[in-house]
Order: sequence, then C-alpha cells, then structure tokens
Amino acid sequence: MIALYHREPEQLDFAAEVLSCVPAGEGCFDVVLSDTAFYPTGGGQPCDLGELDGFPVEDVRKEGDIAPIVHRVRAPHVLRGTVRGRVDAARRLDHCQQHTGQHMLSHVLSERFDAYSLGLHIGREDAYVDLQGADAAPMTRELADELEDEVNRWIARDEPVRCLFPTEEELPLLPLRKKPDPHAELRIVCIGEKEAVACCGTHARSTGQVQAVRILSWQQSHGNLRLFFLAGLRALRWAYPRAEAAERAAQRFSCGAQDLLAAIERLQAQNATLAHRVSALTRAQAEAALRALQPIATAAGPLYAACLPGADASLLRECLGRLSSAPRAVCFLCAPPQEGGAAALGVGAGSPLHAGQALRALLQVFGGKGGGRADSAFGRCDSMDIPRAAAILTELCGGAVPIDTTEA
Ligand SMILES: [Zn+2]
Repeated sequence: MIALYHREPEQLDFAAEVLSCVPAGEGCFDVVLSDTAFYPTGGGQPCDLGELDGFPVEDVRKEGDIAPIVHRVRAPHVLRGTVRGRVDAARRLDHCQQHTGQHMLSHVLSERFDAYSLGLHIGREDAYVDLQGADAAPMTRELADELEDEVNRWIARDEPVRCLFPTEEELPLLPLRKKPDPHAELRIVCIGEKEAVACCGTHARSTGQVQAVRILSWQQSHGNLRLFFLAGLRALRWAYPRAEAAERAAQRFSCGAQDLLAAIERLQAQNATLAHRVSALTRAQAEAALRALQPIATAAGPLYAACLPGADASLLRECLGRLSSAPRAVCFLCAPPQEGGAAALGVGAGSPLHAGQALRALLQVFGGKGGGRADSAFGRCDSMDIPRAAAILTELCGGAVPIDTTEA
C-alpha cells in the first residue's frame, strides 16, 4: 500500500491502528502502524519527527522496499489500538524545500552541462547534491549566481509539483531526467512541464513554496561536483543576518555594502604600511635605549640590566637580539610591572649562563612567570628592582670584575 505521506503529503495529522509495539530499550518502543504520514529516512532526506498520541517520535525508518515503517517512540507504556500521529510541520516543510530545491538545481545543471545527479544529503546546517559530469564547466561564483538565478526565476513562476505513479506504458511518455531504478512503487516527481524524475522523498506543492535557493560553495574532484546549497527559510535565515552585518560594517566605512570588500582591502594595505612603520620606530627606539645602557663587567662577560618604560614584548625582543649578539653578553630587560611587566633575558655566544634558568631565578625573587631556551627566555614579572636584579645576575655570572681598559 502507498503510505499516507505519499498519497496525501499535506496531511500531517492522522489516525492509524498500532500493528505492533515492541520495547526498544531506554524508554522507547518500535511502533508499526496500519498507515503513516511520517516519512522515513531515505534518499538523503532525514525522516519526519513529531508525536504519536502525544509521545515524541524520535526516529522513523524503513529497511528495504517491502519492510514496514518503524517509528521509534519515547513512551511510558506500550501503545495499542488507534493512535493519533502529528508530523512536525516546520521540519517537514524544511525538508520539502531543500529536496525540491535540489531537484531544480539538478535539473538546471542537467540541462546546461548534462550533469547527472548521484545523490542528495540534507544535513542540519546545509544540504548538498553530488553531480557527475559537471566538470565540463568549472564552477565559479559567477556561474553559481547564474544557476541560482535560473532556479529562483523558476521558483517565482510557481509551477506545480506533481507526484505520479505511472504504469509501464505511461512511463516513456514522461520527460525523465534519469532512468529510474526498478522499484516496487515507481513514483515520479514532476516539476512544471520539464522536470520529471523518480523519487521517494517529500516535496513542496509548487516551486513557489521553495521560496529561494542559494548555492553556498562547491567541491570539484575527479569529474564529480558537490554543490552545497540552502533552500527556503534556511536560505533566507542564512542571507538576512549576513546582509545586516555587511550593512553595519559598510556604515563604519561610510560606503555601500557592495563596496565593503574594496574598503577592507584598502584598510589592510594601510595596516601593512603602519605595521612597517611601527617596526621601524621600534628598531629606532631600541637603538636609543641601548645607547643609554652601561654594562657591568662580570667574570662571565658584560651584563646589561634595565627597565624600559613604555616597552612592549616586541621592543624587548628587538633590544635583546642586539645586546646578546655580543659574545658572552648577558642581558636582562623588562617593562615596568604596572605596564604589564614583560621580561626578557638573553645571553651571547660562549656565555656560561643558561637564559631560561637565569630568568626563572629572577622571577622566583620578583614573582611572575616565564622561561625559555639556553640563549633566550621571556616572561612577565610582578615586581622589579633593577639594582637587585643586576646583583643577582652578577652573582650568577661569577661576580663583578674591574673594567678591563687594556684593550682600549
Ligand atoms: Zn525528490
């Protein structure tokens, strides 16, 4: 028997007899009915959900052509006799819109590129259709817009969608897009006068009910095209918040939404120029700070220790790179703790000091956290006293030595 969802697809509220109801674990029962308006998962389309006698229907499936349709119902007791079923209308409409939208996209691609539809998938977020042979026309946004436009004009014509169960004699008279697989109940879905294809899913009653179709993206590989799209309310709900966000962003740039991309590109270019200038200024600032620094002569080599007001991590890194390039130099620099307390310690080649260990030793005294490699270490200090830090590092460097002037 042809199920109610195919005979009367608009009827979402129905009564039926319970033929069987068996426990399915975790408070659920598997229920088979004398007839049903619930579409079972199949053909890439998820099942309908809803209620049976007020209890939630959590899954509907059909394993094979002649198998019964099984409703997984969460109920406190076995269901018997006549029950009332209600299909979730919003979910049904959504699936009908995605599914019919896919038929229309497939039809347009078939007409233009002789593409053959392999299958549909309707997910929670989006839907996609796999097509074979569409590689004849590499997909671009411009082409996607054209295809979308063609489908949307078809939607506006509000052509009827009909479902037929033709006899073998009637079948060759239909303009079939694909040769149908042999099937117990061959059902042909016709959209307007030109689209006809065997299909068991649920569909909109006319193209107008699809509302809109939007092609989101695509993947092309080995001659197959996977086209991601949205139809109906999903397409509108996808588009409107984005349009709103683009309008608001465009207001910030004092331009129209269509000029937003160019405005962002200009801003990115300005940003790159500014970053370049900031880095040049940082280098100059580092050089000025270093010229003012006097080293302490230690047994391990020259020691530099300074707190640089206004310094950030990048300036410290810049200074450290310059100072610790001198052989055996030890360099500790930080920003004032009230300015974030960025701290950096570096040692030059040949220094017996391990930068990571030396920084940790300092931070044990001044608080904060950090560490690093043998040649450089970075962190943040909670407090700082440069003379005391210099004394600790001098100790680690084997003590101070008189400045050797003989080389001058
Ligand atoms: Zn279909």
